[in-house]
Amino acid sequence: MLDTHAHLDFAEFDADRSDVVLKMHQAGITNLIIPGVSPSHWQKQLAVAQQYEAYFALGIHPWFCPQDVEAAIQALTSQISVLLECSRFVAIGECGLDKLYSATWPQQRACFEAQLRLAKTVNLPVIIHSVKAHSEVLSCLKKYQLPRGGVIHAFSGSPEIALEYIKLGYKLGIGGLIMNPNAKKLIKTVCELPLENFLLETDSPSMPPINVTEKRNQPANAVLFIDKIANLQKKSSVLISEHLMLNAMQLFDL
Ligand SMILES: [Zn+2]
Repeated sequence: MLDTHAHLDFAEFDADRSDVVLKMHQAGITNLIIPGVSPSHWQKQLAVAQQYEAYFALGIHPWFCPQDVEAAIQALTSQISVLLECSRFVAIGECGLDKLYSATWPQQRACFEAQLRLAKTVNLPVIIHSVKAHSEVLSCLKKYQLPRGGVIHAFSGSPEIALEYIKLGYKLGIGGLIMNPNAKKLIKTVCELPLENFLLETDSPSMPPINVTEKRNQPANAVLFIDKIANLQKKSSVLISEHLMLNAMQLFDL
């Protein structure tokens, strides 16, 4: 199994990163994808990815959207050109739009669209962060028509919104929110839509599931979500984990 979204490079894991990876392996999660967040984070991110032989993506997260978008995109372009031949470099992201951070909205749009154009140029899928911005994200995805699509990470929406993304060739990242019985729209989505549309992710260290005591989320928790998805889809956990793995392998060409 693969955790398709974990920020293993973040400071929350500095004190015990190797233990976290060991726990992840013991839980049956064999690898993870570390998404990029900003130029100032890439160096550490790449070092952590190298140390643990993890997959990684490169990108600029809307929370870290720079004032000078053009300079950041130039930095991203040159970083990508160096790493394009690396087999563990699997996607552009995480990128996207977040209306809760409205102060940088114009820059976010420019930065997101530039990363979609880059993903198209280098023919990689994208890892997308979309918060309170589904209609804007959908219109950008329609505009750029990426041949390899991508994933809407930490998806929490209804089956109707999910289908809009699926029609454009995107998968939905399912994480800790699925453990929360109040996440009614997401539960409906996972019950009703075919398994081929989902990816497994934790978004560690963020989004700890409701039923674990540790405030920090970690990749080993992903196995809890497999059992929950199995329960909602009325299928066995083995079948669910095989499908989710296959979905990740197909999307990211692993
Ligand atoms: Zn993330």
